[in-house]
Amino acid sequence: MAEVKKGYARPLDLKHGRVDMSHGGGGRAMVQLIADLFAKHLGNEFLAQGNDGAVLPPGHGRLVVSTDSHVVSPLFFPGGDIGGLSVHGTVNDVAVMGATPLYLSAGFILEEGFPLADLDRIVESMARAAREAGVKLVAGDTKVVEQGKGDGIFITTTGIGFLPDGIHLSGHLARPGDVLLVSGSVGDHGMAIMSKRENLSFDAPIVSDSACLNGLTAAMLASGAAIRVMRDPTRGGLAATINEIAHQSGVGIHLEEAAIPVKPEVEAACELLGLDPLNIANEGKLIAICAAEDAEKLLAAMRAHPLGQQAALIGKVVEDANAFVQMKTQFGGRRMVDWLGGEQLPRIC
Ligand code: MG
Repeated sequence: MAEVKKGYARPLDLKHGRVDMSHGGGGRAMVQLIADLFAKHLGNEFLAQGNDGAVLPPGHGRLVVSTDSHVVSPLFFPGGDIGGLSVHGTVNDVAVMGATPLYLSAGFILEEGFPLADLDRIVESMARAAREAGVKLVAGDTKVVEQGKGDGIFITTTGIGFLPDGIHLSGHLARPGDVLLVSGSVGDHGMAIMSKRENLSFDAPIVSDSACLNGLTAAMLASGAAIRVMRDPTRGGLAATINEIAHQSGVGIHLEEAAIPVKPEVEAACELLGLDPLNIANEGKLIAICAAEDAEKLLAAMRAHPLGQQAALIGKVVEDANAFVQMKTQFGGRRMVDWLGGEQLPRIC
């Protein structure tokens, strides 16, 4: 995304204009789109370098890089939109590694005919999310595909952060005796999307939890608790994430259903659609596995942060060569918690 001098042509019609093929053509129209829309919201000293790549200052620690494509449908949903989500998703993947996210790149694939007003709203939302997270967008790209060959807009973001010396979190590090914490209610994002798609309405509307978790992860690391693993349970929900960790570490995990926070409206929507909240995506929640003796310290640090007020201890790590995840149900029985085979909820993020 090169720096652009204004005055090439008439300003973009951000109210009624639409994306056309020339906006991806590398010529004057593209330069104008970048100047009048992208740089307006996202401009900073790195984008202003105006070269083929951004030169970034050296940082302290090891580099952490994560990338994610966003194809959510609908683009605007209760509690968020594809712009904010594309920042949150990638910032959170860097943050749960224990790293401090600093930079983002973004690739936009736009469909011919997409309203510029919607694009403006989406990019503004990205800028807001980036500011909240304290990250800067340092590189970007825009391509346009013909009408019918895309679905409005797809956004791919890559995040870069620095991991301080001495922090080592990994899905391989869960040990029998450790405990499992979750930062808040599960299933909010996926059910906000589903209820919008299915036109369901409840007394309390379901709102996505889409949010940047790097403030929460920083508070958790500062608590001094012996954290082994942090991960954000996005696609596939809590069930998929916990199964991944059980397999990576070669341990079993026992969950306590009664301890897992689920909002009543999410529970009701799940029942109506025949879904299990444990399989539903989250975009502003994390799980952590830590030494049992540090559980209280870590829970207190989480609950002191606005995004961790509902944090709960929901299970423990046990010895199990089969890496089974099991849950004690509210009725006192025990059931397996499996990851799903197919794609149950497409285009959720
Ligand atoms: Mg993740």
